[in-house]
Amino acid sequence: MSVQQNDFSKWYIDTIQKADLMDYTPVRGCIAFKPDGYELWERIQAEMDRRFKETGHRNAYFPMLIPESFFQKEKDHIEGFSPELPWVTEAAGEQLEERLALRPTSETMIGHLYSDWIKSYRDLPVLINQWANVFRWEKKTLPFIRTSEFLWQEGHTAHVDEEDARKETMQMLQVYKEVVEDLLAIPVYDGQKTPSERFAGAVDTYSIEAMMKDGKAVQAGTSHYLGTKFAEAFDIKYLNKENKHVHVHTTSWGTSTRLIGAMIMVHGDEQGLVLPPKMAPTQVVLIPVGPWKKKPEIVENLDKVFAELKAKGIRVKLDDSDQSPGYKFNEWELKGVPVRVELGPRDLENGQALMKARDAEEKTAVALDDLVASIENELTVMQTRLYDKAVAFREENSHTHVDTLDELKAHIESSQTEGKIPGWILGGWCGEDACEENVKEETKFTTRNIPFNPPTEKKTCVNCGKEAKHSVWFGRAY
Ligand code: AMP
Ligand code: ZN
Repeated sequence: MSVQQNDFSKWYIDTIQKADLMDYTPVRGCIAFKPDGYELWERIQAEMDRRFKETGHRNAYFPMLIPESFFQKEKDHIEGFSPELPWVTEAAGEQLEERLALRPTSETMIGHLYSDWIKSYRDLPVLINQWANVFRWEKKTLPFIRTSEFLWQEGHTAHVDEEDARKETMQMLQVYKEVVEDLLAIPVYDGQKTPSERFAGAVDTYSIEAMMKDGKAVQAGTSHYLGTKFAEAFDIKYLNKENKHVHVHTTSWGTSTRLIGAMIMVHGDEQGLVLPPKMAPTQVVLIPVGPWKKKPEIVENLDKVFAELKAKGIRVKLDDSDQSPGYKFNEWELKGVPVRVELGPRDLENGQALMKARDAEEKTAVALDDLVASIENELTVMQTRLYDKAVAFREENSHTHVDTLDELKAHIESSQTEGKIPGWILGGWCGEDACEENVKEETKFTTRNIPFNPPTEKKTCVNCGKEAKHSVWFGRAY
């Protein structure tokens, strides 16, 4: 069995280290993003930010420190977050009168301010996003996927009524789905979280869920309808057209650097990192091969290709260092570079170059005259191919045949003995927390979400056998 199949966690850690994306620090669960890792985040940011602005949002910035009393105002919120909060208790050598939390999310600080900023229906909707770092002191951490400090965006909006706020909640979930599928080439199921998996303080939480190559799920983004809960806690009211003071309805939505981890776990292979072309810091690497004295001519040709690709806005590198070609191939492969081009003396005589996509088995010979067009085409094709492969993998590992807990256990057992991954199962659910809890206890499968478009409707609860209210994706999750 391969390392990726045999020990996925080891494969993951090896992959990100060989690709030089991050480093550990002495602070537990807090990682450093190295340039190749940070650039991945910058690409996600750029695309998300463009979509946020297209849908009418603007960016703002709020303090990282939040007074303890703010958290006390919304009881579900403090209950959910208090175990994970780091505190600042002292500054300039003196105890603070009130301790300050490092924000885990900013509903409270923003709620406090919105109560001042919002006066009349004319001030609504408020559509604000923040790019920031947040802190959640997680017990178990894994680079990118779950860290104690992470980078994210958090949207915070206020609306005149429920209808408007719910529309926003759905719109942003859709934006997430589009960006994750289109940019990261990760297919996701959109749906609603069960009450036990809801954001602390939300009325309803919706998520997009992605399947990793080990069959585990990653919650790739969440969008919350908060009702008037935060508006009541922070007294956010506006004067409506009937001259009455009423509470606003708020939403919040977030995606984080977790998306980088998900992308690695979805597309990576035995050799390590595989980057979707739209995400890759370097999309194409040009490598001269063959004896040194022929080199000037070869490099001259590659220089021309380099200039043409660059002019087209393609992120290209020419690696003419004095390492051997084999060494370079390996290095760039570990970095997940989508397309490699080799040019040697014999190729040049034949008027061709060799091109290899990172996820392809074979190199292909391409006429030098067509090289730039072929590279451009391959980048587009590879982006779609990675997405299609991820869809096929997910389909293969999403099961709809399980109807009872015994069948679920048998399914998990048989996948173990057959050396397969258990993947996800679509299970009926009666709506009782206890049933969800029992499935988790017995199988470690948790509810991912109630998909908007389930492949089929389940009739009975997978745990108790009573009538199912929902069809739910169950799986192990990060
Ligand atoms: P939430 O505010 O809890 O809805 O979180 C918003 C998003 O942030 C989640 O959907 C995750 O994708 C991501 N996220 C939550 N906790 C972490 C963490 N510890 N590390 C990285 N990403 C996280
Ligand atoms: Zn049940």
